[in-house]
Amino acid sequence: MDVTVEVPPGTEEATPPIESFDDMMLDAKIMMDIKFKEYDKPTPIQAQAIPIICSGRDVLGCAETGSGKTAAFSIPMIQHCLQQPEIKRGDGPFAIVMAPTRELAQQIEKEAKTFSRSSKGFKTTIVVGGTNMSEQKMDLRNGVEVCVATPGRLIDHLHQGNTNLARVSLVILDEADRMLDMGFEPQIREVMMNLPTPHQTLLFSATMPVEVEALAADYLNKPVKVKVGAVSVPTSNVAQHLEKLVDAQKVDRLCELLLEEKSEAEKFGGTLPMTVVFVERKARADEIMTLLNEEGVAAAAFHGGRSQQEREAALSDFTTGKCAVLVATDVAARGLDVKGVMHVVNLDLPRMFEDYVHRVGRTGRAGMTGRATSFYTDRDSFLVAQIKRALQDLENGNAFAFATGKEARAKEREAQKAWREGRAAEPEQAAVGGVDIIVDDKFKHMKLSASTASLTSAGGAGAAAPAGNADDAFGSDDDDDW
Ligand code: AMP
Repeated sequence: MDVTVEVPPGTEEATPPIESFDDMMLDAKIMMDIKFKEYDKPTPIQAQAIPIICSGRDVLGCAETGSGKTAAFSIPMIQHCLQQPEIKRGDGPFAIVMAPTRELAQQIEKEAKTFSRSSKGFKTTIVVGGTNMSEQKMDLRNGVEVCVATPGRLIDHLHQGNTNLARVSLVILDEADRMLDMGFEPQIREVMMNLPTPHQTLLFSATMPVEVEALAADYLNKPVKVKVGAVSVPTSNVAQHLEKLVDAQKVDRLCELLLEEKSEAEKFGGTLPMTVVFVERKARADEIMTLLNEEGVAAAAFHGGRSQQEREAALSDFTTGKCAVLVATDVAARGLDVKGVMHVVNLDLPRMFEDYVHRVGRTGRAGMTGRATSFYTDRDSFLVAQIKRALQDLENGNAFAFATGKEARAKEREAQKAWREGRAAEPEQAAVGGVDIIVDDKFKHMKLSASTASLTSAGGAGAAAPAGNADDAFGSDDDDDW
């Protein structure tokens, strides 16, 4: 995994990378915790970013989950906190981490606790929406070193006076692109504007759309840019399979596929490999979960309509192996780092190419290989053309560049609309499907990198789109039905 480091013109060279955690002269307690966690050596992003962060510089990190970025910022964060004068009751935290979702915040909290396990009295708390406010309030008021938060809930606590920013000297924005997509920009800006000076800021983002660049330009001071070469690198390990169906066949085909895999696995004394099934809507996730359970495939549902407790229970059933299948909406597409997912099935394809890449990235993590199967209908032709084009480009040895962020998504929607309108003017195509299932027997490896090149101008995917029905089921992607 290539990592590039760039410093702004006229600034000092970046601190050189480390080869081993021992090179960093970290606090002995942190070293004990790293050993306990059995991290033998730093991942490439950790090797580059840890010394730079420890040198006190702002960092703009382009990396997504799977690269080891959580430890890349958590280890220096704990080191930073251990160097501060003791926290007292009523004090605000030394470090704040903002993350887009409860699940990601929980993963960060876990990592922060891992590396402060041996530091007696070190407190990390998590403040996220959908959980009890008064417990969080008590923790904050008693004084914590690190606060991991979703931006909305952090603002609520600040407004209520449960904590303050007076002692914050390190702030980390994780998955900044996702936070902006979710509308957290006002809350992030409110926190950033009220931080004491000086402070150090680290901003991590899987992609660098213009909105993230603007945020970085406003709040980062001469940041060192650390970029993991292929941002969506997990996808490069995933064999991707597309299968054309008509809507009415999808659910039966899913059951058939999973039951087949289950019986294959059982023949060799195994169990169904961990599978995430993505669907478009919350209600559909529940329906599919019920159906799979009736068919003898243990499944749990994970979507934005479930309570925090239910989501945690679903995740725990999945990770402990009680359920081999997690039926999820796009809420689970990003940030969720579950080890051992072998297969991603898109029962419904997402609307946007970027979401497809994130969903598929739930498998093939941490150097493992994975599989993705996507069912598609005529309605998905535009997206399928993009996927096929990306696979083709890869086969030809060309990296496929796609634009990300709000602006790029708006452009993609426009291109989709123009394409659908173009198709509507043409004679109706013969429906594909019936009882036949057309399988494109192409298993390909796909490696995608984020870039600022626009999808349509980079590849003319619209022109390459195969024929399909003019179905306008895809509207704005701003709804929250997942
Ligand atoms: P992240 O990118 O932070 O979501 O991390 C991805 C996965 O890699 C997590 O499961 C981490 O526990 C694991 N990981 C992070 N750093 C290391 C390391 N140095 N050695 C082994 N595993 C690691």
